[in-house]
Amino acid sequence: MIAKSLAHALASSCDGPVEWDAPSSRWTTLRAGGATAALVEPRTVDSLRRLWRLCATEGVPRLVVGKGSNLLISDEGFPGVAFRLGQCLNGLEVQGQEIVAGAGAPLPAIGQTALKAELSGSEWCVGIPGTLGGAVFMNAGCHGWELADIAVEIESLTAEGEVVRRRAADAEFAVRTSCFQSNEELILGARLKLTPSSADRIRQQTEELLAYRKRTQPLSQPNCGSVFTNPPGHSAWKLIDDCGLRGLRCGGCAVSVKHSNFIVNLGDATARDIVTLIGMIQERVLESSGVRLAPELRIVGQPSSPRNSPAAAEAAVVAAPMEAARAHQP
Ligand SMILES: Cc1cc2nc3c(=O)[nH]c(=O)nc-3n(C[C@H](O)[C@H](O)[C@H](O)COP(=O)(O)OP(=O)(O)OC[C@H]3O[C@@H](n4cnc5c(N)ncnc54)[C@H](O)[C@@H]3O)c2cc1C
Repeated sequence: MIAKSLAHALASSCDGPVEWDAPSSRWTTLRAGGATAALVEPRTVDSLRRLWRLCATEGVPRLVVGKGSNLLISDEGFPGVAFRLGQCLNGLEVQGQEIVAGAGAPLPAIGQTALKAELSGSEWCVGIPGTLGGAVFMNAGCHGWELADIAVEIESLTAEGEVVRRRAADAEFAVRTSCFQSNEELILGARLKLTPSSADRIRQQTEELLAYRKRTQPLSQPNCGSVFTNPPGHSAWKLIDDCGLRGLRCGGCAVSVKHSNFIVNLGDATARDIVTLIGMIQERVLESSGVRLAPELRIVGQPSSPRNSPAAAEAAVVAAPMEAARAHQP
């Protein structure tokens, strides 16, 4: 709940849309989850910075949102301000062999821009429906490529609102993680270094990757991509498949029959359904293989009453990132 006086200050500091009690089911690709107390979409970096600092001063929890393609907010909601990027920080520029882009730039646009400039290294971006900021935060990637391979420098806002530049080598990139998962910074943009190649080669690679996705992923149903990261030496989808879990249902969601590491929203899934299904999958895989699957999906906030599975409750705890802690700040 945001106090009236603070709501007024937020609205007057934002030069773009402000929405109160904004249901995340409208802006996450899973189409499920609770509301954030406020959703702001500043149009300029000045406004973004003012809002960011205002929340810091007032002790309001903050959450940065890109395309919501790897995000689930608990049904109880997020009692703070979600900053959606895309209205600002969406610029893209080719500078020699580099692309300099804002955090709100869509990954597919980065891949397409690189193709036009005959630069290779970001072909994988074309099939991922997120932003550059989300990709830096997650160290997104696929088929052996990842953001860390092409990032040179990242610019961000500290929790207090100061702009910092960090060499990619200092961003603690590892499997689907970076320092931004623990430092409360807002990623503003990044410089990516690519390699000259021919447009035909880049196009062919891109088309092959897109065709593979179409063949193997349930793209017509709401989802968040792979739910679990691959444990060292294993494929998460194979571990799930070996337990025969394709089609396993919980409330309004199910394990995809097309790709066993995807959960799809069948129409009316709640966050609690999804977290419970995550717990069921973890329990079954642990029992049969001894491997504990870790969610790649970022779950914000704690469900107050997970469905009747002890593993589901545990899953929620394992999955809940630092945003959960922030969400419960006074
Ligand atoms: C069909 C489909 C296929 C996918 N395929 C892949 C794949 O092949 N490989 C892969 O790695 N992922 C994949 N994903 C998952 C997802 O697209 C990526 O993780 C993507 O990088 C998330 O970007 P986003 O902008 O949607 O981030 P969001 O989902 O909006 O946010 C994800 C996390 O990043 C944080 N965040 C976002 N932007 C910022 C910022 N500017 N500053 C600080 N924190 C920020 C959020 O707070 C949140 O914790 C897929 C998803 C879908 C739906």
